[in-house]
Formats: sequence, structure tokens, C-alpha cells
Amino acid sequence: MAEYDTVLIRYGELTTKGKNRKDFIRKLDQNIRGILKDYGNLEYRRAYDRFYIKLNGEDAEGICEKLKKVFGISSFSFTEKVDSDLETITARCVELAKNSGRHTFKMISRRHDKTFPMNSDSINRHVAGAILQNTNMKVDVHQPELEIRVEVHSGDTYLMSEKIPGAGGYPSGINGKVLLMLSGGIDSPVAAYELMKRGLDVEAVHFASPPYTSENAKQKVLDLASMMSEYNQGRMKVHMINFTDIQLAIYKAAGDPYAVTLMRRMMVRLAQQIAEQNGCLAIATGESLGQVASQTLESIACINSVISIPVLRPLICMDKVEIIDLARKIGTYETSILPYEDCCTIFDPKNPVTRPNNKKASSFEARFDYDRMIAEALDQEESVMVHPPVQEDYL
Ligand code: ATP
Ligand code: MG
Repeated sequence: MAEYDTVLIRYGELTTKGKNRKDFIRKLDQNIRGILKDYGNLEYRRAYDRFYIKLNGEDAEGICEKLKKVFGISSFSFTEKVDSDLETITARCVELAKNSGRHTFKMISRRHDKTFPMNSDSINRHVAGAILQNTNMKVDVHQPELEIRVEVHSGDTYLMSEKIPGAGGYPSGINGKVLLMLSGGIDSPVAAYELMKRGLDVEAVHFASPPYTSENAKQKVLDLASMMSEYNQGRMKVHMINFTDIQLAIYKAAGDPYAVTLMRRMMVRLAQQIAEQNGCLAIATGESLGQVASQTLESIACINSVISIPVLRPLICMDKVEIIDLARKIGTYETSILPYEDCCTIFDPKNPVTRPNNKKASSFEARFDYDRMIAEALDQEESVMVHPPVQEDYL
């Protein structure tokens, strides 16, 4: 990428119109600047349907890795800016082709400036002719080893090769904020990714039961949150709730079969309050229908009935294999499968009820003062702001 001095960024979701479109672009601009804030020499420019970032010597590889994780970008390319003059364009394309070390190429030109004296087809022919004359390369329009893109604007022309796929979706935060229940498992980090992709700013809550759950288990959750924060404007707030007393009280009051149902009802009650206190309009989980006893439709209904806030379940209809594939893609899988206990595995009931009923659940709950315990747990809440892990390659 040595000769390229500018990044050209294309937006996603172009069906967005009017005010939404303006908000989309403004938010994306803000998120890109935020994620690249450590690169002090960058110069930003916004054009109608593009962003341009002038590198001024900053590390192209590092910037490339960061941009791949910004939702709202459909694709981007490293480019070289030259004057919109046919001979200059041709000479630079010949140089790019010569330096590429490739054997076949294809020209892809677009004339945005209709006053430019040649149409895109003629530009393709002219430049390709010069490359054929000055190198040993051949044209291959189907599977070229090198694509040379030429975008002619009035005044400036951008030359580029690779089109790097962006993360797609909507810019983080444009659709509001949600509180995700984050366990140390495989599913909830994937749920975070899906929510962020839809433009939601994600905050997380984790329920830990020390000393039954260890510091390692807590650290694992923070590590997962840190990985996800890269897609979330480079930060994620994690609320840590001590769940031990509530969990012990549940076991005393209800015993084995209803323990998980009651545990989940307490978790969502707590989550609703944290969401309301932190400006989140919904809570979210990594539930997938039928995966475990607490995720049957009857269970979900029984758990959901104790709260009034909307619950988003982005993985509800996904197969485990699909979820695992995504976890691998976003890089959380290896951390998620580390064998640290979570609060559900500690008090793992042998025969959890798969069709809990509301009346029974409520009658168990009447045996202890859970409102007071919830208030106490909220009083002791600790929140941590996590940031992306430091990548040694970029140091
Ligand atoms: P995961 O892989 O996300 O842990 P799971 O298949 O193990 O999911 P459950 O343990 O039944 O499923 O959890 C279902 C959902 O409940 C999780 O996706 C998460 O949103 C929430 N949850 C479970 N345990 C916790 C916890 N300790 N703290 C916060 N949220 C939790
Ligand atoms: Mg779990």
C-alpha cells in the first residue's frame, strides 16, 4: 500500500433517505474519527457519498484493521489522488501495474465528472493500452489478479486497486442504546455483534456469584466486552452485579426445578432497572429458542412476564452451528470456551422445569423479600468502562 496516500470510504445501507441519511453520515463520521483518534496526522474530508482520509504518513495497515470493524462502512479502498488529467492518470496507472508484481489486470473506471472529455469506456481502453505496451501484463476481465479502479471527479482523480469489504450495517449508536445481559458463554458476545450491527450502542450487565464464581470468570467477561468494544465506538460500559445472595435465597426458597426460572426472573428485573437508570430503551440476551430448558417458549414467557421493558433476542432463531461460526468470525469463540464457571454452572439444577408456570414461580418468590435484595445488589453495583485490547502488531 506504500504509494497510496488516501483512504476512500463508501457508506452502507444506501436505501436510507432524508434526515435519516444525514444522521447516518454524521454518526459514521464521528465514529470513524473516534476509532482513529490515536492517528494524529490524519486529514478528513466528507464528500456527497464518500469519506476521504488523507494518511499523511500514518500506518495504513493499522488503520485498515480498525476500519474493518466500523459498522456503516460498506467498503473502502486505499487510493492515490492525482490531477484529473488523462496523461497523469495513465502514467500513474502504468506505475501501479508495474509495481504490483501481478500478471493479469482489469481496468474499472467511473466518470463522476461528466465534463471530463472521455467516457469511462474510453478511459479503460486508453489506460489498458498503455499498460499492455509498457508491461508484460495481460487483460483478464473475469478473474484479474489486479483490478485498477479509476474514479474521475472534477479536479481530482482517485486511483485504487483492492476494494476491502466493510462491516456493513448501521453506525454504532444511531439507533439508541441497549443493555445486553453478557455471560461468559458463546452466545451473548455474538448477540452484542448483531445488536451493534443494527446501529445500537451496547452497554452490558454481568451477574457474578463470588466466591462460587472466580476472578478469572469475571476477567473473561471483561475480555469479551473489550473485544466487542472495537465495534462499539471503542468503548463498552459493563455493569457488574453481585448475584450470590439472591441466588442462595432462590435455592432456599424454591429448590431445584424452578431455580433457573427464578434466577432469570431476578436477572431481568435487575437488568430492567439498570437499563432505565442508564438511558437504555431495551434489554437484550443471547437466547436461542429451545437451546436449553430456560429457553423454551414457555420459559421465555414466564421470565418475560415480570418486566415491562422490551427484550431484544437477536439469536432467537439461529442454530448453534451458525452462532459458533459467527463467534469464530468475530474472534470471541476461543475466549468464550475457556472453562471458567459461571453462576448458572455453579448451581446447575439436574431437572430444570421446561414449562414453568407463572403462578408457581410467583408463589416461590413470595417466600423471600427479593425487592430488598435487588435494591441491595443495585447499591453495590460496580461499573467498568472497557476498551479494545492492545494489538501488539500496531505498537
Ligand atoms: P451464553 O453462551 O450467552 O452464556 P447460553 O447458551 O449459555 O448463553 P444461558 O446460560 O441459558 O444460555 O443464558 C441465556 C442468556 O442469559 C445469555 O445469552 C445471556 O444473555 C443471559 N445470561 C446468562 N447468564 C448470565 C450472567 N451470568 N450474566 C449476565 N447475563 C447472563
Ligand atoms: Mg451461559
